[in-house]
Amino acid sequence: MKVTIYRGTKEIGGTLIELATASTRILIDAGYPLFLKNAPINDDIAKLPKERLLELGVLPNIRGLYSWDAASFDAIVVSHAHIDHYGLLKYAHPDIPVYMSDGTRTLIEVSQRFRIVDTYPLNTVQFRMYEPFTIGEICITPYLMDHSAFDAAAFEIRVEEKTVIYTGDFRGHGRKAVCFDRFIDRAKEHADLLLSEGTMLGRQNEVVLMEDELELKATDIIRSKDAPVLVQSSSQNIDRIVSFFRAAQRCRKTFVVDVYTANVLYELRQLGNRLPYPSPEFKNIKVFYPYRLTQRIFNEIGEEYAKRFSAQHISKTHIKQNQNNIVMMVRPSMRKDIESCELRNGTFIYSLWQGYRQSDYQQQFEEALVATGFELKELHTSGHASVSDIKKLINALQPKKIVPIHTMTPDEFSNISACVEQKEDGVTFDI
Ligand SMILES: [Zn+2]
Ligand SMILES: [Zn+2]
Repeated sequence: MKVTIYRGTKEIGGTLIELATASTRILIDAGYPLFLKNAPINDDIAKLPKERLLELGVLPNIRGLYSWDAASFDAIVVSHAHIDHYGLLKYAHPDIPVYMSDGTRTLIEVSQRFRIVDTYPLNTVQFRMYEPFTIGEICITPYLMDHSAFDAAAFEIRVEEKTVIYTGDFRGHGRKAVCFDRFIDRAKEHADLLLSEGTMLGRQNEVVLMEDELELKATDIIRSKDAPVLVQSSSQNIDRIVSFFRAAQRCRKTFVVDVYTANVLYELRQLGNRLPYPSPEFKNIKVFYPYRLTQRIFNEIGEEYAKRFSAQHISKTHIKQNQNNIVMMVRPSMRKDIESCELRNGTFIYSLWQGYRQSDYQQQFEEALVATGFELKELHTSGHASVSDIKKLINALQPKKIVPIHTMTPDEFSNISACVEQKEDGVTFDI
């Protein structure tokens, strides 16, 4: 089997891995980069024409992948619904089937519907966790993983007697920690190649809390003051939303999500699970309708996505009058709506990676909160594996060869195992 990592041997995100046999060619992940020339990529780059994106390397030179070539891949297999793993699907040839889990497809579809990402047709084939499927002569078993993206997968890939394991993005300290243990138990030992993510190897001074511990800390913060609590996190980080929902519930406060987050929870809940979502079943979850987003839903997206939560609607007046009793998920684009709720002297909890916090837009949002008496706090834990969990994985699976991926510091892997081989982007190797 021939392996080519087009991007990710020395950077976080933008993952693209080709696996090829004599008769079958697949791409694992089709990620949009988070970095360009070692600096965080500018949002405007995505608007450039394809010729420029190819020149810049945002689109690596991959024969037979793109819509303007003759398609020569048998499949693209996507590990999870983070843009750095699926953001290039937009450019992929529409004849290439795209395999993904139900949860991943749902999150991508919600993102498209709400114009978080561009809209393009998806030729998807659904796989089920732990159920092997074949593409030509390649057999793939997906494993549900613990990650900040819902329904994320690792893959065990077999061709005749050769096995490659790709961890995707994972962690062992989230709400699905048990899935990480199950993966370690069931995945093949002594695989010929382990492609392991190593995001945290370059961030070893970051505190790694268990998601349960984070929930308890959130509970303490909420309980410490009779005042409004605003939380900024990702609307698609379901583990985190559940942590703050549970913390609010412990403190008998109303948990408020905006209508976009409400739709994310609603759509995922339809897949058959026990996720909390705005409904008669969860009386303390209410839905807030930010003005501009609501206009867009009625004018462009479809009014049913607003109307489905009519019975759970919470008005600005209600929030204002009951402000000491709310825990509300917010983001900077809701600044004007929050201002008109006239919240005072509360706590703002930033629950994302600190690296995202420096933009002017974010800073202005936080300054406006401080001006109304808000105290700023930070409470976050990574979506990625701690060094000890990467060691645990390697010790348990004992792969013959390890190639680091999704890391800025691949050389740090050498401190964990003697079987590490660093590779270069775009250079094919055999296993
Ligand atoms: Zn990633
Ligand atoms: Zn991810």
